[in-house]
Amino acid sequence: MPKKQKYYITTPIYYVNDKPHIGHAYTTVVGDVLARWKRQNGFDVFYLTGTDEHGSKVAAAAQAENKSPQKFCDEIAEIYKIKWQNLNISNDYFIRTTDKDHIERVKQIFSQLKNGQTPKGNDVIYKDNYQGLYCTGCEKFLTEKELVNGQCPDHNKKPEALKEKNYFFRLSDYKEIIREKIANDEFQILPVSRKNEALSLLDFVDDFSVSRESVAWGIELPFDQTQKSYVWVDALSNYITALGYPSDLKLFKKFWPVDVHLMAQDILKFHTIYWPAMLIALGLPLPKSEYIHGFFTIDGQKMGKSRGNVIDPDELVSKYGVDATRYLLLSQFSFGQEADIRVERFPEKYNADLANGLGNLVARVTTLIEKNKLKIIIKQGGDTKLKKEFDQKMSNYRFDEALKILWAELRKCDEIITNTQPWKITDHEELKKILAPIAQDLLNVADLLQPFMPQTAEKIIKILTADKIKKAQALFPRI
Ligand SMILES: [Zn+2]
Repeated sequence: MPKKQKYYITTPIYYVNDKPHIGHAYTTVVGDVLARWKRQNGFDVFYLTGTDEHGSKVAAAAQAENKSPQKFCDEIAEIYKIKWQNLNISNDYFIRTTDKDHIERVKQIFSQLKNGQTPKGNDVIYKDNYQGLYCTGCEKFLTEKELVNGQCPDHNKKPEALKEKNYFFRLSDYKEIIREKIANDEFQILPVSRKNEALSLLDFVDDFSVSRESVAWGIELPFDQTQKSYVWVDALSNYITALGYPSDLKLFKKFWPVDVHLMAQDILKFHTIYWPAMLIALGLPLPKSEYIHGFFTIDGQKMGKSRGNVIDPDELVSKYGVDATRYLLLSQFSFGQEADIRVERFPEKYNADLANGLGNLVARVTTLIEKNKLKIIIKQGGDTKLKKEFDQKMSNYRFDEALKILWAELRKCDEIITNTQPWKITDHEELKKILAPIAQDLLNVADLLQPFMPQTAEKIIKILTADKIKKAQALFPRI
């Protein structure tokens, strides 16, 4: 047997200072759809998600709830895990940056970096004074360029001048290599607008600090007890420590480099510039690609706690069900773009596409087949033309268009039924000639729908491939 191709896909690790909302859910469902699609096509898949748990903001949030940081993180990480189960996410691993293995591996990575040299023969990391403009909200130093009217644009707050000793990563020695690899797509950044953004950002990035004196809740540097790891090495390296790097290389050898890192635009800089620089410094191959999607607005408003418009994915799941929630999230706008979620459109879309669309068609067809006791034999894995068109869209991350192709197929079936009026036909052979191809079409659609709506697809496949096709229960009750 030929060796299976591998596919490694990740979401970012989500910061535990925030409870999971629809933005996290969106990226995670996209990752799940891709992971399931690849598995279905015979790939050996590793789908990684997890939580980012260190930093002074987490420590402060824990203190506000009178909990130890670890207990606080344990609780939030558990919430993430449960919400992903509720959305039927099929991740192969859930990494937490407070995992013992991760902490040990980050220390080893730090030692490697400390001992390493840049392509220009300098130390990869070095200790220096740092004075900068620090936004406590962002938990990072901002450059003058990033400020708007002297304030952090994300927090509308003036950053503080802060000075301390830090270890720095010598990013400046890697900029040209990274520019070349991005420009020639050896390290592919998608969509193209984000690639251009990364290339122009390269002009403005400097060496960045990888440690802090002032942060208590973090990983202690193996070569300096006064310093704790600060964000980047700890967080970004999750993508390789989850595979065992550097202490246990079995999974790592199989799955690295990653096929795609998924993320929203706010962490573009760290993933397109800091992360490849770290990988080059470690002597490792760069990610094959990164896909960076836009932010959501909710009913035209930026999503935020203060606006009270944060949507909990569980709310959607309890109202529409898991599969419908996954469908509603991925069918309404093209992946990558900034998108506005109009919550009041969800019921309309649900009723039109699912209750009256897919659900109704399955019910009509199976009812007619059962009533007339038709013996219909169809098989899975047919219609390569539909699959080809669908796969083409999936390869290009056009999930909404992939779904549209399937729904166009459903509409064709509906039209045939309306035009031929099979409920008036009494001749079984004639009836079979109409319904068998429709049942086959439905089965083909269900087959391709599996990555998006796994439970629904499985139900439809089971009904249609049974020895005797029986009338289906309503798949999507009207709302
Ligand atoms: Zn800020």
